[in-house]
Amino acid sequence: MSPDSTVTLDPLDPRPLADRTCLVTGASRGIGRSIALELARCGASVVVNYRSSAAEAEAVREIIKENGETAMCAQADVSEPDDVAAMAEAVHDELGAVDVLVNNAGITIDRTFSEMSHDDWQTVIDVNLGGTFNCTKAFFDDIRDSDHGRLINISSVVGQQGNYGQANYAASKGGLFAFTRTLALELAAHDTTANCVAPGFVTTDMLEKVPERVRERIRAEIPLDRFADPEDIVGIIRFLASDHASYMTGQVLGVNGGLEW
Ligand code: NAP
Repeated sequence: MSPDSTVTLDPLDPRPLADRTCLVTGASRGIGRSIALELARCGASVVVNYRSSAAEAEAVREIIKENGETAMCAQADVSEPDDVAAMAEAVHDELGAVDVLVNNAGITIDRTFSEMSHDDWQTVIDVNLGGTFNCTKAFFDDIRDSDHGRLINISSVVGQQGNYGQANYAASKGGLFAFTRTLALELAAHDTTANCVAPGFVTTDMLEKVPERVRERIRAEIPLDRFADPEDIVGIIRFLASDHASYMTGQVLGVNGGLEW
């Protein structure tokens, strides 16, 4: 929205994203799945990206379709530039340009630093940071030129605090802060915003991989005394994707139960 816009936003509009297309990477499961469903609930056409969970991604598309909205599945390993280029071509053919890119796909390979191999390091960096680069590259012109352009990167509280056994993951997530702030500067002249959401610990397959005793130790330190559900994360994404957030850019928004501020 331009600074002199006279459009009045209706906070009760049930489909505030009706005129835009959103792509969510890693939307077959976990947080990305909930984000995709929420953006579609707000009227957006949604691209459900996944790497290998085709049936789960198709189930997300089905739910969106049953609710009368538009969605397509798009397989691509975000760490592979050729995969991402092919995805961009398929998306452009079927839905046209993307207005909102949510870089959510992410992985962990947890080891203490002394046990961490070069491969453990590189694989996590390639998906979490490299995947964000690849997808932003592929859809940069779209979001820059959109009247509602949004870049939303999913980082983590671990990028802010570090975490035992997660040097690779913490570095990838911390890198997203700097990446996002730079993109915010480069996109500002086009009225496109770039922000980072940094969730705390969320009950998904990713958290399931953490040993029970470690999970208990983490939970005990969360001021709100519980892990987040994926649904706890989607409200801020809905806001960032909407016109209500048109003057917010370059920010890191923590949704972490009070773990960090
Ligand atoms: P999750 O349940 O493990 O789901 C990961 C999603 O990412 C899946 O849809 C998976 O697709 C996709 N994915 C993984 N690697 C991919 C690749 N190379 N290319 C394309 N898609 C890929 O994870 P989550 O907990 O929802 O995490 C989502 C994001 O939130 C991640 O960036 C994570 O770092 C961040 N985060 C999570 C937590 C947490 O506690 N859970 C906390 C803070 C931040 P497939 O199903 O096809 O494998």
